[in-house]
Amino acid sequence: MTDDIRSKYQVVVGLEVHAQLLTNSKAYSSDKNEYGAPPNTNVSVISLGHPGTLPKMNKKTIEYAVRLGLACDANITETQRFDRKNYFYPDLPKGYQITQDKTPICTRGKIYIKDDEGKEKAIRIARIHMEEDAGKSIHDIDLYDTLVDLNRAGIPLVEIVSEPDIRSSKEAYNYLTEIRKLVRYLGICDGNMEEGSLRCDANVSVMLKDSNEYGKRVEIKNMNSIRNVQRAIEYEINRHIELIEKGEEIAQETRSFDAVNGITISMRTKEAANDYRYFPEPDLLPIVIDEKQIEAIREEMPALPRELYLKYTNKFKLSDYDANNIIENKDIALFYEEIILHTQNYKAAANWLMGDIKSYLNQNGLEIDEFPIAPKTIASLIKMIEEGKVSTTIASQKIFPELLKTPEKEPMTIAEELNLIQESDDTLIVSYIEQVIKENPKEVERYKNGEKKLTGFFMGQLMRVSKGKADPKKANQLMREYLDKQ
Ligand code: ADP
Ligand code: MG
Repeated sequence: MTDDIRSKYQVVVGLEVHAQLLTNSKAYSSDKNEYGAPPNTNVSVISLGHPGTLPKMNKKTIEYAVRLGLACDANITETQRFDRKNYFYPDLPKGYQITQDKTPICTRGKIYIKDDEGKEKAIRIARIHMEEDAGKSIHDIDLYDTLVDLNRAGIPLVEIVSEPDIRSSKEAYNYLTEIRKLVRYLGICDGNMEEGSLRCDANVSVMLKDSNEYGKRVEIKNMNSIRNVQRAIEYEINRHIELIEKGEEIAQETRSFDAVNGITISMRTKEAANDYRYFPEPDLLPIVIDEKQIEAIREEMPALPRELYLKYTNKFKLSDYDANNIIENKDIALFYEEIILHTQNYKAAANWLMGDIKSYLNQNGLEIDEFPIAPKTIASLIKMIEEGKVSTTIASQKIFPELLKTPEKEPMTIAEELNLIQESDDTLIVSYIEQVIKENPKEVERYKNGEKKLTGFFMGQLMRVSKGKADPKKANQLMREYLDKQ
């Protein structure tokens, strides 16, 4: 398709994201909520919906959903009601899911993302509601039969429904990355799309740019990575535009993404859509969340990525690049927060974290929580450089590797043991300068005749003579003064 044709159309996307909550037990029973247990081992009669059993609300689910709502600046609904969404499927033993139809726990929130130009943009959240997961049908283990694992049945979920505010596949990618980051910071979901703890359905439509009516939308399912959501949307946009250009209609349908071939395939059309026959769940009483409870949850909220970003760029004057690198991973951000408890050299702390520390982690395939050196020790190292005791190069090449081996040692002790402390004593430096000048009379002559750039040469000689231990700033200053007096 030519860019000309493509640029006639406006892309419109709305995402429905399901996040499995990191509770110990399921949403309405004490069955364990864990990934990877042997199939059908976390399944009691409640998860199976046997007659006579009753669901009991896991309060943690509410707390987690409120945390998410507060993080998105959403309204929290006062009275939580629950509904049954009825449909038949082999992995849904009860024949219905407990969900929230008319009273989602959060409404009208916002999530900030970057648009295609890198500018900040708010995506409106229409609603967030609580529900329970269904079991899992497994089609690819047995050659003839579909296998069912009910461990997942009843795991608490929140569904986050965006307004159709997303305007490109890249924005959808950024939106999901933000949501994943957010739920991880909040500690309410592990955000793992490959294991299905974070899932996304994408609603996609296109319309002519001057139109004020949305086009027909298609819902795409079964994408197990953020990248695949972007690919599926991109494929769908092109498919829609090609159909419209040919004068054909877009069928309102649900499609499935085939990641291997990079295409979407029709699953069911609107006419075949389920009528879920929602009705109030008679076995759960409404739950009221009062202001006091909300305030208590607000007080316990961890720092959020956007707050940290604003603090780093506005208050600490870090670059957009540095700030984003730090907040990308919650544990990295927490490590940074700890370093800066002990130093106000924010830029140096960012440089150490994003430079030496990250390369060490990458080279060894480690995560930051496996990093041996304490944040406070990194701050001490930064202080030694500030005080001119060692140069950044010596700190990075000599002390840091030694600290990795003996992280309990103070960097100062290591520097003393290895005889690395910079000499900033004037008389000593001057004695080095005198030696350098004596050894290089020709260069001194040239310098006197105006070749000022020879300072670099003299500094090199001085570092050689002092075995790299002269404080370079001081040495440079003294060297110039000395040469100019010649
Ligand atoms: P449903 O109940 O059929 O899923 P919703 O009104 O809940 O319908 O909308 C589901 C999602 O579809 C929302 O995320 C919304 O933003 C998105 N959406 C609605 N209209 C469009 C459209 N024309 N193009 C793209 N996405 C849309
Ligand atoms: Mg939908």
